[in-house]
Amino acid sequence: MTYLTVPIAVSSVDKARAAIQQAASAGAEMLELRLDYLQPLTNNEVTSVVAAAVEAKLPVIATCRPNWEGGRFAGSEVQRQPLLRQAVKAGADYVDLELACLEKKAVEFYGAKVIVSNHDFDKLPVDFHNRLEYIKIREPKIAKLAYMAEKITDCFAALDMLRKDGNLIALAMGEAGVITRLFTKKLGAFLTFASLEKDQESAPGQVTIDEMKNIYRWDAITADTKVYGIIGSPVGHSLSPVIHNAAFDETGFDGLYVPLLIEGSREEFSAFLDGVRERKWLDIKGLSVTIPHKHNALEYVKANGGELESLAERIGAVNTLSIDSNGKISGYNTDYAGAMDALVEAMGIQRVDLKGVTVAILGAGGVARAMVAGLTDVGAEVTIYNRTVEKAQRLAEEFGCRWAAAAELSEMQSLDAEVVINCTSLGMHPKVEGTPIKKELIKKGMVVFDTVYNPLETRLLRDARQVDAQAIDGLQMLINQAALQFEIFTSKPGPKEAMRRAALDKIMKEQKTT
Ligand code: NAP
Repeated sequence: MTYLTVPIAVSSVDKARAAIQQAASAGAEMLELRLDYLQPLTNNEVTSVVAAAVEAKLPVIATCRPNWEGGRFAGSEVQRQPLLRQAVKAGADYVDLELACLEKKAVEFYGAKVIVSNHDFDKLPVDFHNRLEYIKIREPKIAKLAYMAEKITDCFAALDMLRKDGNLIALAMGEAGVITRLFTKKLGAFLTFASLEKDQESAPGQVTIDEMKNIYRWDAITADTKVYGIIGSPVGHSLSPVIHNAAFDETGFDGLYVPLLIEGSREEFSAFLDGVRERKWLDIKGLSVTIPHKHNALEYVKANGGELESLAERIGAVNTLSIDSNGKISGYNTDYAGAMDALVEAMGIQRVDLKGVTVAILGAGGVARAMVAGLTDVGAEVTIYNRTVEKAQRLAEEFGCRWAAAAELSEMQSLDAEVVINCTSLGMHPKVEGTPIKKELIKKGMVVFDTVYNPLETRLLRDARQVDAQAIDGLQMLINQAALQFEIFTSKPGPKEAMRRAALDKIMKEQKTT
């Protein structure tokens, strides 16, 4: 069993007792009582906190991490050991002891099982594997190694260790290390840590117990679970994990979808994919790719003899990768079809009906590019407007359409088009008063499609509705491209309604908290 463990890392005994109750109700399977957060602490208080955990019928780890190992306990060993002894006396099942404070075997501690731990809060230590050997010499019940992941490829050390040794704790801290926490159950680790609340992490990179259970499908994960994820930077606020995991739930597919932060260069992107393909046991079968790696993904597929959808090559961007059981990689672009379908579905027409329709594209970035590719493909009359005029010109020349010099979109005096599509970020949360064009330019009967989806009703769409233009929001495009990815990943149609519900839910929650 891999225990979903909640660290109780709060500053008072009363808060600790309340947190224990909350963790138990949230579905914690083990508790780690961080006595070093509760300083100063009497023996009676230790007993009271441990008793609350025992009452909750959850196994308990007692930890009193000294400051020289990244914890908050500033006292001496002579002061620390009695607190741990008291915790065991009160019913703690495990005691966490740091490798650096142990000179001999640590099979048990006054009858409790021992976790021997070692932490590096800066980096992946070069002697990582030797550290495990030093820990094993102490013959603990459980070995624990934790280090800071500076980049995503640092995760492979912990994942390889879990694959080889199974019943231990090996994890990479920080946002780039999150997958080591999410893979624990699949790889049979002893535990993973999940914080009770967003601001109660006992180490960087912990996700909350709510996210672990309700987004990352903790209860459904098995050794056979197939893994998918989104590569990007930033990736923390991406809706994709929520949307795809909800789709796995809805369809009963044994899958897990995780965030994969790759901040670095094309080399880092390639090194991660090489590492994934070498480790077939990770079962990573498909990946979504977002800013800034869509072009890197295309180059990677080409360089590794993979299959490339011709349209993805024409657009110059891959937003979806699939990896087969032989490690062969294929690249697709679902942004284009997602956007085109959102437009024609809302207009109640077919793609071919867009032939000859005049379309103004506002923006010349990645989304504009996919739009222009799709629209010119069906023969629409496209004109591109962009703040950086040279980018509009380059894009127009590449796809054989028009461009207009409009460095200040907001100063434009006329707009002669049947369809207007906003592909800029203007109007996006939190700067919701932003809008790309003046309301006066929107005419009755125009179709106004805003690719921004947070908020759903942007100022541009509000303006459009007020003059009886047809307003189309960006969420359907997002859901369409995700549903097409889901189909590439699983060979099943994406459950769009469930995906949309999950996305809306997350958008609403985020708007409440910011
Ligand atoms: P991108 O490649 O960074 O392009 C951003 C575009 O916005 C550029 O044309 C940029 O003009 C323009 N822009 C940014 N700030 C501006 C400002 N203050 N005034 C005028 N123009 C400005 O980004 P992208 O990937 O194309 O994404 C663009 C937007 O599409 C996102 O913000 C997001 O809201 C939306 N989106 C929607 C979906 C969906 O599925 N619905 C998916 C992805 C993105 P310059 O060239 O002058 O910098």
